[in-house]
Formats: sequence, C-alpha cells, structure tokens
Amino acid sequence: MIDVCVLGPSGRMGQQVSELCLRSDVVRLVSAVEHAGAPAVGSCVQNSSVIISDSLEEALAQAQVYIDFTTPASTKLAAEKACAHKTSAIVGTTGLDEAARHALDKLAQVAPVFVAANFSAGVALLYHLAETAAAALGADYDLEVLEMHHRNKVDAPSGTALALGDALAKGRGQSLKLAQRNSHDSQVGPRSTSEIGIASLRGGDIVGEHTALLIGNEERIEITHRAQKRSVFATGALRAAIWAVEQPAGHYGMSDLLGI
Ligand code: NAD
Repeated sequence: MIDVCVLGPSGRMGQQVSELCLRSDVVRLVSAVEHAGAPAVGSCVQNSSVIISDSLEEALAQAQVYIDFTTPASTKLAAEKACAHKTSAIVGTTGLDEAARHALDKLAQVAPVFVAANFSAGVALLYHLAETAAAALGADYDLEVLEMHHRNKVDAPSGTALALGDALAKGRGQSLKLAQRNSHDSQVGPRSTSEIGIASLRGGDIVGEHTALLIGNEERIEITHRAQKRSVFATGALRAAIWAVEQPAGHYGMSDLLGI
C-alpha cells in the first residue's frame, strides 16, 4: 500500500481525491491537512479515522506522497516542507507563481514531483493532437483556444488553456509567451497571423471544457475535450501518485505517465 497525504481535503478536488484514496486497495489515506483556522481541522475525513490536521510537517512526515489541489501559496509551503522528508508530490493546483515553481524545483532535486494543470488522460491527448495539427497545417491557419469553467473558478485563463496554447505554439515553432493574446477587447485592430488567442467563459457548474481551434479561410478544425465529472482529475492524480513513487527524483507530467 502507498501512504498518501491529501492537502485541502475539504475542497472540491480534495474531497474527490480523499474519497478515491479511501476506496482504493492500492493507496492508503494516512493524513490530511487544511490551513490553520479552517473549520474542518480536527474533524475526520469522510467518516474515516483520518483526522484533518493543520500541521503540514506532521502530515507530510507520515506519507510517501502528497496530493495537492489547493492554492499557489499552499503549494509553495508544502513543497518547502516536503524537502525534509523527500515526500513525492502530485500537484494539480493551477495558477502557480514563480515562488511556488521555485519550491517545486527544489523538491524535485530530492523527490519525484508530478505537476499537471489537468490530470485527465483525454486532455493530455488533446495537447498532443493540437500540437500535431498546428505543425501540419502551418501558418495559414489562425490558432485560438476557448475554455469554459464553473462560476467559482478563481483564475483565468485556466492552466489547461495555457498548456493547450503552449502545445499549439510548439507545433508552429513559436513561443506562447510572445504569441498569447487573452480574448479580443476594444479597438484591437485586425488579428495578426502569429498570435494565439485565449478566451475564457465562466458559468454554472461546468467541470471544464477546452477547444483548440485552427481556423483557415475555407475550413476550420476544432478539437474539443469536455470533462464530464470532476472525478476524472482525481482518478488521474491517483494514477500519477501510484506511478510517481516508483520514479527517481525529478520533474514529471502526464506525457511521461502516458508515454506520449
Ligand atoms: P477549492 O477552493 O474547492 O479547494 C481548495 C482547498 O485547499 C480548500 O479546502 C482550502 O481550504 C485548501 N487550502 C487552502 N490553503 C491551504 C493550505 N495552506 N494548506 C492546506 N489546504 C489549504 O478549490 P478546487 O476547485 O478544489 O481547486 C483547487 C485547485 O486545483 C485550483 O487551483 C484548481 O484550478 C485546481 N484544479 C486542478 C485540476 C487538475 O486536473 N490539475 C482539476 C481541478 C481543479
């Protein structure tokens, strides 16, 4: 059995991951941690015997691997603390800033660190298809990304939309940093051929939808992925955890897991 610590067990994703761990016969939920002052601290995770703690150090010390769907600040803190125990990290938190990435880089020197802005296998394939399509169709096709999420999502564009834009840019030998344009607003003038537009919509309970559009003068291709259930990300994260604990220290992602 692989011993797992879940960060943010009361969150939308934390609940899914905890539930899967508690039902699994491959991994065992040994600890769970919320931020100090969170109402859930001291209570049990979903009627199990695991008590939610506010001590990252204690929680990480008990586990071989931790699963993190929280906030960039929490990701940084956890990665820093995990260095001492060489705990493997599975990170799904999006909108990671420089400080969080730096902490994960340091942890990756001593433990496997698996980061994915989207843990669905279908999305990993979407990146692959988008990159292939952009490479094949070339500069005559305009590249756009459209993403939709539920009304409570706090960051935009989604991490997945950025990764999809990156895949399109890579296919065309560009850098997304230089090409990215977030939606079209006010008097922006005609579209340049080199830009990659990213548009975000928010509403209701949409789990996550991403489309790569390759738009020519006479035709367009749309490659869409729709997540139907939030559990798809938890399933992927658990699969990543089981795989990552067997790997040497370093950085890993979904393409390593799937071999694409
Ligand atoms: P949420 O707000 O429902 O949950 C976040 C949880 O983190 C809360 O329980 C909160 O109390 C907890 N938390 C905050 N600070 C903490 C700390 N210092 N220590 C421990 N716990 C802490 O959010 P959510 O919808 O579950 O999403 C969380 C993150 O996961 C977001 O960045 C989201 O974009 C991302 N996400 C990624 C994927 C993926 O496949 N990679 C899928 C869905 C969501």
